[in-house]
Amino acid sequence: MPKYGLLIHYELCVGCHVCELACKQEHNRPEGQWGICVKEVEPEIAGGKLYYFPFPTDNCNLCGKRVAKGLQPACVHNCWAHVMKFGKIEELAEYVRRKPRTVLWAPH
Ligand code: SF4
Ligand code: SF4
Repeated sequence: MPKYGLLIHYELCVGCHVCELACKQEHNRPEGQWGICVKEVEPEIAGGKLYYFPFPTDNCNLCGKRVAKGLQPACVHNCWAHVMKFGKIEELAEYVRRKPRTVLWAPH
């Protein structure tokens, strides 16, 4: 089981795509490669409200080099709406239990 992950409080996301770009810049990703992708969730699916949802991809390595230096992952650091939180899975799981509209993501 992975030790670290990202808590995503998607209700706070406004779809600005800053996290996508921060990840791309941090990892110098080529055209068309993303570490995280922000998608629109259709109101018909989400109970009448338009939601944006940042999806980490298989390219995400949780910013291991930044974290080793004591920094937050680039997407977490640059999201001004505080949608994401990096941490230990067990601690983040507590937030998920307490807060609605949150999901936990971990690399496999
Ligand atoms: S997660 Fe944050 S940075 Fe990314 S699109 Fe949502 S609000 Fe913007
Ligand atoms: S944790 Fe790092 S690699 Fe993963 S999506 Fe965020 S910025 Fe990209």
